[in-house]
Amino acid sequence: LVPQSIGVDLGGTKCLGVLLDDRGSVVAEHRVHTPVGADAIVDAIAEIAKELGPGLPVGVGAPGLITREGVLRFAPNLPGVVEVPLRALLVERLGVDVEIENDATAACWAEHEVGAAQGADDAVMATLGTGIGGGLVVDGRLARGANGFAGEIGHMVVDPDGPPCPCGKRGCWERFASGSGLGRLARERGIGERGEEVTAAAIRGDAAAVAVMAEFAHWVALGLVNLAYLLDPELFVLGGGMVACGSVLLDPVRAAFTELLAGAGHRPTVRVEQAALGERAGAIGAALLARGR
Ligand SMILES: [Zn+2]
Repeated sequence: LVPQSIGVDLGGTKCLGVLLDDRGSVVAEHRVHTPVGADAIVDAIAEIAKELGPGLPVGVGAPGLITREGVLRFAPNLPGVVEVPLRALLVERLGVDVEIENDATAACWAEHEVGAAQGADDAVMATLGTGIGGGLVVDGRLARGANGFAGEIGHMVVDPDGPPCPCGKRGCWERFASGSGLGRLARERGIGERGEEVTAAAIRGDAAAVAVMAEFAHWVALGLVNLAYLLDPELFVLGGGMVACGSVLLDPVRAAFTELLAGAGHRPTVRVEQAALGERAGAIGAALLARGR
């Protein structure tokens, strides 16, 4: 292990970098706008690394399909960025050890090591934002899959006739259980144009908004139930912008989960918890992964 490392969360609009000390605490932060194009993105990450601590190992959490070798294959939120050997480019540029991981997988590792899933050998993280990302800890280890693509849970199909998804398929879980899914429900039920309007109204106790939140929570729980059948986790950690509202979403999700799960009365309760690390989770996880697995 090394005493310090840098983590960068490469997002669609911003790159957030953190410097972690030897105890896994964030001691410095640096953020820049995400530029367009692979070369400019490499420049931006290099700038963050130089600002936070030249010579330290760097981890990057990136959206999309990341291979075990650190090649960014496909990232719908980064226009024109396909088949980029990000790890090799950064190693060449910085001359340090570099790890590249899917952003939600990195966030899951952070929650497991220093956040809401500490001590849980089997945990699933779902980040509910514009879409849904996922990370899986199985038997105490990060599950990565044959290619590194494990945890693309947002594209599990929950309605074959459902709305089209940016991934090119139809009826994906993230069309229903993300911020865009709540926005669609809001428009259909006449509550407003955006998901945020529903959550704000539900927090105020508006009955129609509370009903829409319950409907939305049902879609969130449906995906979690399928994941529970597959992985039997001790807990789910929910992160991303959608869970900032806390119990107004989490309580109906817990209720719907119990209602939908077969044999719920014969199983220990599967906890559904809010993520502890907020928007820094992906960067913290990437920094931890940069220290070695
Ligand atoms: Zn999809």
